[in-house]
Amino acid sequence: MTKKNLLKFNLDDLKKEFKGNNIKGFRAKQVFNWIYRNGIIEFPKMSNLPQDLINKLTKNYEIADLNLNKKLIAKDGTQKYLWKTKDDNLLESVFLPYEEENRYSICVSSQIGCSIGCKFCATGLDGLTRDLTVSEIIEQILKIQIDISKENFGNPKITNIVFMGMGEPFLNYDNVMKAVSILNDKKGFNIGMRKITISTSGIIEKIKTLAEKNQQIGLAISLNAPNDQLRNKLMPINKKYNLDRLMEAVNYYIRKTNRRVTFEYVLMKGINDKEIHAEQLIALLKNKLVHVNLIPANPVPELDIKRPKSNVAQYFKKRLEDNNISATIRVEKGTNIKAACGQLRASYQNGG
Ligand code: SF4
Repeated sequence: MTKKNLLKFNLDDLKKEFKGNNIKGFRAKQVFNWIYRNGIIEFPKMSNLPQDLINKLTKNYEIADLNLNKKLIAKDGTQKYLWKTKDDNLLESVFLPYEEENRYSICVSSQIGCSIGCKFCATGLDGLTRDLTVSEIIEQILKIQIDISKENFGNPKITNIVFMGMGEPFLNYDNVMKAVSILNDKKGFNIGMRKITISTSGIIEKIKTLAEKNQQIGLAISLNAPNDQLRNKLMPINKKYNLDRLMEAVNYYIRKTNRRVTFEYVLMKGINDKEIHAEQLIALLKNKLVHVNLIPANPVPELDIKRPKSNVAQYFKKRLEDNNISATIRVEKGTNIKAACGQLRASYQNGG
């Protein structure tokens, strides 16, 4: 019999699941507590459960599926995890500590591979293998929280989640949103909706669906080019959803939610970092409730992606701010451990 993975349930669903198996509701709360408040993922260690229940749980359920295949730690504290799934696929997550701000962020993957095929991204090289399950999404965060906890579980506590790892989260919408509800559960991880961000290449139907849900969750658009011609080249998804349609969906989202949308712009030397691009970016985003995150590219030798000089990001920031568009330059993290999306997996598969 295949065992069910408990990480796919929020507390209410776990109660229902247990009820169907003649396990009392309060046991669900205890198990949930062990997992998300204590980081205990082995049934025999759940010391307030009777032995017959431990046996029953062990027989019918499991908690963890992912095996750590490789972990890299950068000089700046960034930690990259390469996981192997039960069906022998590889996926990555990145832990980004910003200790001075008491912010501990995880960049999670939502798919194995990706069908979007952005030209600057190592993940897209082999296409999509499959969606991640809800439990595989949750497990990335749970295992990292266990790994980084020092004297006791949850210290330091993961405060922010970004769906910006491998995959297009909106093409695995249902599993991603279910995982978000579990992460947000007050009796579990209790990560505030405002601290969770979904980054999309621009799947406009789902931007509109999210707008209608009107949740507090953060929306980020991976833009990277301020005109259709260049964006078609860098992100083929733009041929399906061009900038007009994308901006129309973003405007709809802002109108419905009154929430600010973040635009990510990875600055790549000689590709999208010229003055004209800054001006086009301003024209695209002016007078909108948006924020621009400028990200100097992590070099990807296989794809000939280079980082521009640091004054380029400063120039873009200044031009945007001069036009009342808020902008930040994302602090570089983990450059020496192949921190760009999908790079570790790609280099591992190539024997790197
Ligand atoms: S950048 Fe994101 S959406 Fe684009 S190919 Fe890579 S994983 Fe997919």
